[in-house]
Amino acid sequence: GDDGVPGRVRVAVRLRPRNAEELVADADFADCVELQPEFKRLKLRKNNWDSETYEFDEVLTEFASQKRVYEVVAKPVVESVLDGYNGTVMAYGQTGTGKTFTLGRLGEEDTSARGIMVRSMEEILATVSPETDSVSVSYLQLYMETIQDLLDPANDNISIVEDPKTGDVSVPGATLVDIRDEHTFLELLRLGEAHRIAANTKLNTESSRSHAILMVHVKRSVLGADDANPSEMDKSSHFVKPPKPLVRKSKLVLVDLAGSERVHKSGSEGHMLEEAKSINLSLSALGKCINALAENSAHVPVRDSKLTRLLRDSFGGTARTSLIVTIGPSPRHRGETASTILFGQRAM
Ligand code: ADP
Ligand code: MG
Repeated sequence: GDDGVPGRVRVAVRLRPRNAEELVADADFADCVELQPEFKRLKLRKNNWDSETYEFDEVLTEFASQKRVYEVVAKPVVESVLDGYNGTVMAYGQTGTGKTFTLGRLGEEDTSARGIMVRSMEEILATVSPETDSVSVSYLQLYMETIQDLLDPANDNISIVEDPKTGDVSVPGATLVDIRDEHTFLELLRLGEAHRIAANTKLNTESSRSHAILMVHVKRSVLGADDANPSEMDKSSHFVKPPKPLVRKSKLVLVDLAGSERVHKSGSEGHMLEEAKSINLSLSALGKCINALAENSAHVPVRDSKLTRLLRDSFGGTARTSLIVTIGPSPRHRGETASTILFGQRAM
């Protein structure tokens, strides 16, 4: 992923520290990875004497702060959204490696713990003008190719609408909440999380089996056409004086992806198997799309899953995309860690 080039995916890897269980169980063993953040490199151990080296746009160790993670992973995307372009930040990795920690932490007692969702909103609210601009949010869950509204549980089968002319994607059935202050946003995230737990209890599944998708819509009023989105520009406005304000719309999509772990076929049947297939479908469709972007391919196969259809106008083209892959240190999960690293590598 080239730095700062729209349409390419920027890929960071983040290692979570050993947890209490791993400190004990893996005490006699080295971590399965060794990070060299100054070289933006990661070494995946094959055995005691051999390892494979990978390069990323950013390598975040277990000591990286939430602030730093926001700055390298999300801030450039948020800034671009404030300039009128769409953008996406996604977290991919095995369950328990820190996707929700990275994206969704509220940091209620300790603001330094805040994740990307809250930090992005802070930056957006600090930049937009309350008189002329607006910020609104939808919060969705995608589970087995069905979209549910996390802000209104009764609304459990939302459709995706694509504008054939502009290519814009929208979910008109989803609740849209106007955000004017951080407090309202934190309340909304709490409500969404509570609904997510309730919905998953009802469906008898884990929230790690679904994707959580936060969509932030930004509308800004801009004077003069010069720096406006070309698509929103009224060509005749060059001859009209004085210039009327234009409304520039953009969208930031933050995605806490379903756990990437393989569900072993032998151990899963019936509903579990269907669930696993559907997760693999959307994650592999996402993988194909980001590979296509990385290869600059003319054909990005967005139609293969609901996830990629939803993201269609938020990656590629003029949109800016950032992927953070999260990994754990345990040598027992070396296989899953290797597959997460490869997913990230294929996006670059
Ligand atoms: P996921 O969403 O990928 O399943 P979580 O974000 O829920 O994983 O993280 C699993 C556990 O690990 C949580 O208890 C979380 O607080 C902890 N954790 C994750 N990342 C970090 C980190 N970078 N530093 C400290 N603890 C972390
Ligand atoms: Mg999670």
